[in-house]
Amino acid sequence: MSYDSANIFARILRGEIPCRKVYEDAHVLAFHDIQPQAPVHVLVVPRGAYLSWDDFHAAASDAEQAALSRAIGTVARLTGIDAGGYRVISNCGRNGHQEVPHLHVHVLGGRPMGRMVAKAE
Ligand code: AMP
Repeated sequence: MSYDSANIFARILRGEIPCRKVYEDAHVLAFHDIQPQAPVHVLVVPRGAYLSWDDFHAAASDAEQAALSRAIGTVARLTGIDAGGYRVISNCGRNGHQEVPHLHVHVLGGRPMGRMVAKAE
């Protein structure tokens, strides 16, 4: 699958669709998930056109990769979930149940998150 620049996160990054921004820098935008699965549910998105981890690992600069990692910690601090703990999830590809084809990391917290994964159906 190749990158589709019409995906919803690309449109948010271009400012065509609004988001509830939590944090941004030169390489990253973080915003609240529209259907939160926890009291805090933020998506951390690289600005670059990366479909998933495969091309991000291969093609993103060291600065982009560091920025994505750092932004996760920044979001946790800004939303106040750092002290109580939180979960970081990134769904990748078909088996990972990735719905939006632009790399993103979910940061969830504000309540006990339970077991990591449900039993396979
Ligand atoms: P994934 O299954 O990992 O691809 O997750 C995609 C996430 O994007 C879901 O949690 C959706 O609720 C979220 N989402 C979809 N559209 C928007 C939007 N316009 N603004 C914020 N979050 C969105």
